[in-house]
Amino acid sequence: MATVPTIRLNNGVEIPQLGFGVFQIPPDQTAEATRTALEVGYRHIDTAQMYGNEKGVGAGIRDSGIPREEVFVTSKLNNNRQSRDDVLRSFDETLAQLGFDQLDLFLVHWPLASVSDYVARWKAMEEIYASGRVRAIGVSNFQPHHLRNLFAGTEVRPAVNQIEAHPYLGNDEARTFNAQHEIATEAWAPIAKGRVTGDPVITQIAERVGKTPAQVTLRWHVQRGDVVFPKSVTRSRVEENFDLFDFELDEAAMAAITGLDRGERTGPDPDTFAYIPD
Ligand code: NDP
Repeated sequence: MATVPTIRLNNGVEIPQLGFGVFQIPPDQTAEATRTALEVGYRHIDTAQMYGNEKGVGAGIRDSGIPREEVFVTSKLNNNRQSRDDVLRSFDETLAQLGFDQLDLFLVHWPLASVSDYVARWKAMEEIYASGRVRAIGVSNFQPHHLRNLFAGTEVRPAVNQIEAHPYLGNDEARTFNAQHEIATEAWAPIAKGRVTGDPVITQIAERVGKTPAQVTLRWHVQRGDVVFPKSVTRSRVEENFDLFDFELDEAAMAAITGLDRGERTGPDPDTFAYIPD
């Protein structure tokens, strides 16, 4: 089984660079999907309160027989948890759903700057971190200007910023800012929700190196230094997406994929997104 490299976060915690995402996996299929990913070799699962499937992630890990401490698990604060008490309570719920005493990484899912106070939410995240029940805290979908505001009013630097990034959205301004401030970048929708599979440039590179377009794209992320967690409910793809460590892209291939950037998002714009569920 391939060894997945780890990345050292700014507080010394190590995170596997390749994980498994469970967004849009129905709750009743999540335990099985998680078990499959663990069987294939993944040791990092990315979920969120909003996905409604934390319980399945916890069950899948327990069913697998793999010791809890060998699997890195991330969850994210739902957008409707605003007050300090709501943030603290919802973290307790996350631990209860997962059946864990401690979480590896907890993220603020969206800044929601037009409708909420993300600095206040971050202060509640700092309290959770200080309690020792989470090994690292971070943010998701934060632009550099959101991070600057956070730095000005709070103590703990986010360990990661999980942002949309793939060949059609390089997101290099945010990635560079993250790197300059010792914040690890995690790239969500790493294969642009499957769109890269039909790309002529990526397909040509894939044929040349004897890999698939998804593998070439995931390898491009790994070589850029970002953390990725492709999602799939299809076992053969879960295996395919894990098989990234027996080849390397040369500079020309890296540049050709980077050159596909056209600022195209598959999801909401963090500067305008303001969705708060009931
Ligand atoms: P991905 O880029 O991972 O694409 C997933 C889609 O691609 C699915 O339809 C899947 O199909 C298909 N697919 C997977 N592997 C292959 C392959 N090898 N060949 C062809 N098609 C493939 O998108 P996601 O949006 O799921 O992003 C990944 C993870 O990022 C999420 O699961 C979640 O953990 C996180 N995320 C975070 C967000 C945030 O705001 N922080 C927002 C969105 C995602 P199938 O399952 O049918 O096999």
